[in-house]
Amino acid sequence: MSYILPTYANFPLTALRGEGARLWDDEGNEYLDFCAGIATCSLGHCHPALTEAITTQAKTLIHCSNLYQIPQQQQLAEKLVTEFVQSPGKIFFGNSGAEANDGMIKTARRFGHARPDKDGKARYEVITFNSSFHGRTLGSMAATAQEKIHVGFAPLLPGFRYVPFNDPEALKAAINETTAGILLEPIQGEGGVNSATPEFLQGVADFCQENDILLMLDEIQCGIGRTGDLMGWKSICPDLKPDTISFAKGLGGGFPIGAFYVSDRAIDTDGTQLSSLMDAGSHGSTYGGNPLACSAALAVLTEIQSSSLIGNVNRQEQRIRKAVESWNSPLIQSIRGKGLLLGFALTPETIEAPALCKALMDNKLLTVPAGPSTLRWLPPLNVTDAEIDEALKILKNTLDSLA
Ligand code: PLP
Repeated sequence: MSYILPTYANFPLTALRGEGARLWDDEGNEYLDFCAGIATCSLGHCHPALTEAITTQAKTLIHCSNLYQIPQQQQLAEKLVTEFVQSPGKIFFGNSGAEANDGMIKTARRFGHARPDKDGKARYEVITFNSSFHGRTLGSMAATAQEKIHVGFAPLLPGFRYVPFNDPEALKAAINETTAGILLEPIQGEGGVNSATPEFLQGVADFCQENDILLMLDEIQCGIGRTGDLMGWKSICPDLKPDTISFAKGLGGGFPIGAFYVSDRAIDTDGTQLSSLMDAGSHGSTYGGNPLACSAALAVLTEIQSSSLIGNVNRQEQRIRKAVESWNSPLIQSIRGKGLLLGFALTPETIEAPALCKALMDNKLLTVPAGPSTLRWLPPLNVTDAEIDEALKILKNTLDSLA
């Protein structure tokens, strides 16, 4: 008998302990963890720098309220904006990805009020893309263009329009006088590891600028080093200047934290900054940005920078691609994604991704499906050559035994 709501169809594994890319279950089995909390444990399990930051801060001040100044919040926001986003703006801290996206959607609505249509009516619609995933709150669920996520929750929050990904013509056709923003994952994670093409992403950015529409990026899964650059979009179109960006997952390395960025760019001739629209009283979160969460995230970002993990991510991607491509496995059609957000597209009518994940788990490698036909690898950013080699060996043996 379980007292947990049955919202997850989870695997029969009880996780008890972790260290780096290793996880141990309640029977003492050791696994190589290439799920990493679904792209969350960016430094692996219980990284000493993260554990030290959390324990030190926990002994000093855990929580105090945003009614007061929180120095760790200021430091983290400064690092995120100046060293990761690298474009002037401001940050709001929450506790999860869905919350961060809700905050961005609220920002788009504020923008739509500040910059109404030609008849003076507030704009409010946000365009999102088929197969996207933005979260499970009422706002982020409505933004998510996947019917299976909506089942039984109608009526959804209005104000969203869904169009095919990487299809500029469909996007142009969907724009209307109510459009306030375009929201996308530069690399869709849950929806199958689908990268925006450089032409499409740049085209969306140009289109937003030409039509006074916000460019809103969901970097929750693909940001913070995961794709082999500081930000997911930078690994596709380095020069993009997004208006809003959401973060979570890898930002806290496993400690719950979410955030969204709003650009300081001027939205009118008077020089009103976009970030100024989210003024006092417009948004809030009791826990968001507390000293403990911010200390954890600061340790994660510092470690990513000081250990040059971006270089490791790119190197390991190349090693994985080279090995898997050399196998010519009849079960793998192609490899999608970037850095260590990789999707192995499975050949239709061979094996489903959840079944392959289960077979890999039986062979002590933890992975995660991305939809029914894509196997996803999301190892920690500091994964070693030896761990990649071991995972490749397990994947090859499993595929060979299934072929
Ligand atoms: N956006 C993306 C791209 C995600 O991958 C996820 C989670 O998988 C979310 C939003 C939602 O994040 P959270 O589960 O922290 O609310």
